[in-house]
Amino acid sequence: MTNKPKNATLADAVSVSPQLTEMAQTASEKNPSPSASASRFNFVIVGGGTAGIATAASMLKRDRNISLAIIDPADDHYYQPGWTMVGGGAFSAEYTHRKEKDLIPARAQWIKSVVSSFDPNNNSLLTADGQEIGYDVLIVCPGIKLDWAAIDGLPETLGKNGVTSNYRFDLAPYTYRLVKELARGTALFTQPPMPIKCAGAPQKAMYLSCSKWEKEGVLANIDVQFHNSGAVLFGVKEYVPALMEYIERYHAHLNFESTLVAVDGEAKIATFEQKHGEETKRVEVAFDMIHVVPPQVAPDFIRSSPLAAENGFVDVDPATLRHSKYANIFSLGDACSTPNAKTMAAVRKQAPVVAVNALAALAGKPPIADYDGYGSCPLTVEHGKVVLAEFGYGGKLLPSFSNWLIDGTRPSRLSWLLKDKILPPVYWHGMLKGREWMAKPHRIDSH
Ligand SMILES: Cc1cc2nc3c(=O)[nH]c(=O)nc-3n(C[C@H](O)[C@H](O)[C@H](O)COP(=O)(O)OP(=O)(O)OC[C@H]3O[C@@H](n4cnc5c(N)ncnc54)[C@H](O)[C@@H]3O)c2cc1C
Repeated sequence: MTNKPKNATLADAVSVSPQLTEMAQTASEKNPSPSASASRFNFVIVGGGTAGIATAASMLKRDRNISLAIIDPADDHYYQPGWTMVGGGAFSAEYTHRKEKDLIPARAQWIKSVVSSFDPNNNSLLTADGQEIGYDVLIVCPGIKLDWAAIDGLPETLGKNGVTSNYRFDLAPYTYRLVKELARGTALFTQPPMPIKCAGAPQKAMYLSCSKWEKEGVLANIDVQFHNSGAVLFGVKEYVPALMEYIERYHAHLNFESTLVAVDGEAKIATFEQKHGEETKRVEVAFDMIHVVPPQVAPDFIRSSPLAAENGFVDVDPATLRHSKYANIFSLGDACSTPNAKTMAAVRKQAPVVAVNALAALAGKPPIADYDGYGSCPLTVEHGKVVLAEFGYGGKLLPSFSNWLIDGTRPSRLSWLLKDKILPPVYWHGMLKGREWMAKPHRIDSH
């Protein structure tokens, strides 16, 4: 390592969330790392979530001799798409959980730390516990920040008083408990402004709850309301008619441009800012249960770094996923600036593209593969049926299956089977092991 290590401390990691800083502190206590030492790798991957593990596995399948480090402080790894199913009573929470140590590829080195800042001109980064790590090629994928605190009163009441969210592993089971216990009253489901990960998840929670209430014969006693900051039910119009059939079937009330701004858990009152033409009004709604999806933003340490685009996410070319300024930096997953749907399905296609392009960068070559913006959102409209939205940049439909097998614009039992039984093992045993099932990287010159 050519650069002199800086004397950073945990306190210097100003941009890192308190939770991650605490995780880093525990990690460095357990595994005292040579805090003033420096190390260097061919590839450094920031974040060992869906994108980090999948990309590392894809790269090591192609070349076993590279040196590659994954930096992530987390002990636990989650199959987050399963949390909708946990909230709907179809999966146990534990089914969505594995230990991170069991997923890190054998030839990768795991650095259990929080990244706090980047020095792209010197090909190095700094961790919250003071390690300076150098790289030839950097891959940045620390996910998106869930901004619970942006809603007044929410953090202190989450998990009690009928306030829940499928966006947290520990709370998704509470969603199902609330749904089972509710026989009459008002149930609110909220959606914050875009971008969020899995844009369909706020309404999936509502459909599966309604499906349960319908089955129990209590749906008619429940006032179901969907409050969406946006102006449409779903961003790709082809899927809206099927979704509207369920909105009508469940007698759900749609409120557009209605943004949750505060929750008083004890009084069971939610406050929304609602747009009415030029005017914005604050409206209070009493609830018996509320499913909240938090506002989501770029992680602070990305937003404040030289890697950030104007919107705070890592600034990459939408096709090659290479940084727009630094030719040896790539980004994918929820943390990158591309306008695709932020989903695991997107990462399944992005990871092989980044893998081959990053290997090419190490060899001093330009990118050789491109990504078409594919993302997918299996909308669980009832227990047993899914509307399988699959689309790329600009809302172009990109179905994986022939129309006669699965018409993605219609509810389908086969799509439920995919969500329920096929996608979880594809994730654990395919994607995270570098098996690029239906995700071979597309070569730029093969158009
Ligand atoms: C409720 C819910 C439902 C969903 N449903 C679907 C679905 O049906 N289909 C679908 O395809 N997708 C779905 N998704 C979205 C999908 O889970 C995400 O898009 C995907 O996990 C993104 O992967 P990622 O690697 O970018 O981020 P993550 O998997 O979140 O990983 C980020 C990693 O970075 C680490 N990290 C963060 N900060 C730092 C730091 N400073 N230093 C080092 N490491 C750091 C974290 O510890 C974490 O391990 C859903 C998500 C949720 C929450």
